[in-house]
Parts: sequence; structure tokens; C-alpha cells
Amino acid sequence: MIKNKPTPSDFERQSVENLVQFFNLILEKEQPWNEFDDDGSTEEMWSYHQVILKNALTLLFLAMENQLKKKICEVSPFLLLSENPSDWKTINNDKDFQEFHIRPFDDLLTLYLELETKQFDQSVIRDLNVLRRKRNQITHAIFSETLTPKGLFEDFALIIANIWGERIWWEQFRKYTVDDPAYGTYDENAENSWLSHNIEYLIGTLGPKKSGQILGVDFSRRRYLCPRCHIYLNEAAENYFYQHAVLEPNLPESQTVFCVSCQSEFGVIRKNCNHDDCKGNVIHFLRDSVYTDGEICLTCGGWQEKRGKQKYTGR
Ligand SMILES: [Zn+2]
Ligand SMILES: [Zn+2]
Repeated sequence: MIKNKPTPSDFERQSVENLVQFFNLILEKEQPWNEFDDDGSTEEMWSYHQVILKNALTLLFLAMENQLKKKICEVSPFLLLSENPSDWKTINNDKDFQEFHIRPFDDLLTLYLELETKQFDQSVIRDLNVLRRKRNQITHAIFSETLTPKGLFEDFALIIANIWGERIWWEQFRKYTVDDPAYGTYDENAENSWLSHNIEYLIGTLGPKKSGQILGVDFSRRRYLCPRCHIYLNEAAENYFYQHAVLEPNLPESQTVFCVSCQSEFGVIRKNCNHDDCKGNVIHFLRDSVYTDGEICLTCGGWQEKRGKQKYTGR
């Protein structure tokens, strides 16, 4: 008998861990740089630090491979083994699953497509194979091409659209971050809002339309500030203006916005913003925040009454 068989959730966890590290490697390097460089150009920095992007590519590939393994394992973990059953030598003999070899990427992809009765465009197969070749060169040989974060995030978008599934990756990413034992030691609300740096980076790198597609939301329409993320993100200093919320449904009379970053809905009133230079008409009544309760415009972030923007002192 084969003992200690893995479960789909074992592979899912590994894929999410790798994905979070993929984001972290790139964003940790990007953020300090952006603070010092006004034009936002990171080309020179990345040409020097190619090794970070090579590691990021390896993590992304591992994340994808683990997704394939998870989906195959949902049918049976035995399908993952590359040896023939007659070579397993498990009749009246216990062996650990870890002792066997796992199938290579090509096999995993073929199995995945057959089990899901899916077909990929030829261009998707080609792009996934290019990614595989790059990973193999990085791991086993010399890789001399220049990698860019944009190129890696395009590969990421390809994986989400064809294998992982839109939005679900972000729900898993958030859960993994929130479950970290160290999470919330500073301030849970503030730390929740920091997650939106990932979404903003995605929009900046892939553009709103493609980012929206992999997040399962239409970002080609008007976007709004999230009344929770915006407030906590700017609690210390007002540096960020991230519009990650959309009207749900997208109608003139709609009274709800949905924030992709915190995956939450908020009620809104439809009336014109009273700031002269703003044409917004999506207003949220903010309560229980660090400010006195009041109406805030989700287009410009402006308070609708002068007294609105006063921080509580006795918090
Ligand atoms: Zn939010
Ligand atoms: Zn406004």
C-alpha cells in the first residue's frame, strides 16, 4: 500500500505560498525604489537585479505546477506518479508517497486538459512551454534573456486565465496573508488595507482591463475609492489614491460598491459631490472610523461637510 498520500489542499497550499512569495519578491524591491525616483522607472534597477526576477519566475512556475497537481489530485493522487503501477512494488509492501517520482510538467498539463475536458489555444500551449523552458534554463543552465516584472505578470495572467481561475487566487492570497500568525499585530484594519498595494501594482503593470479580468471584475468601467481601504491606507500619511471599488451592479441608481481588494460591499448614496472640481455622485456615509462620522465622496475622497475630517482624539 502507498502511505501518506497528498491531498488536493496540500498542493493548493504550496501553490498559494509560492504565489505570495512571487508577489513579495517583486514588490519588496519596487516600493523603496518608487519613493526615491519620481519618474517611476525601475528598468535600470531590474537590469541589475535579474536574479530576483529569475527567482520570481521559478516561484511562479512552481505555483502553476502545484495548481495542476491539485486539480489532478482531486481525481486521484496516483495519477501524479510517473512509474508504472507494476513497478510500484507495493503489493504486501508499504511505501511512502514521497518515495515515488512525480510526473514532469508536460504530463501534468496533458492530464489536466484531459481530466477537465479542456482545450487550450495553440498560443497558450506555446506560452506555457516558453515559461517552462525559461524555468529549466534558470534552474539547470545559463539564462541570459532579460526578464521584466511586466513580462512575469503577463505570464501570471496567462496562468490565472487558463489554469487557476479568476478571483479565486486573490481570495486565497488574502486568506494566506490573514492567517499568518504575525498578522494583525500592528493593526488589523491597517494591515488589511496594505493588501491593496498588490492590486495597485497589478493595475500599474498590466493595466486596468487585464487586472480586472484576473480579479473577476470589470475594471474598464469607472472605479471608486474603497471607504475602508482608502481610510486605513492613508491613516498615517495621505499618499495613496487607490480606486479598487466598482458599482455593483453598474447602474446609475446602484447603491452598492464592491471593493476587490478587501472583497467587501459598502452602501452608497447617489448625489452630487459638493466639491466644485469633482463630478462624482457616489457618496458613502463613513462611520466607526478614525474620523468623526460623515459623508465621503468615493470619487475624489472629499468630505461633504467641513467638520467631517477631524480625527477622534480619544481613540
Ligand atoms: Zn476595500
Ligand atoms: Zn468628490
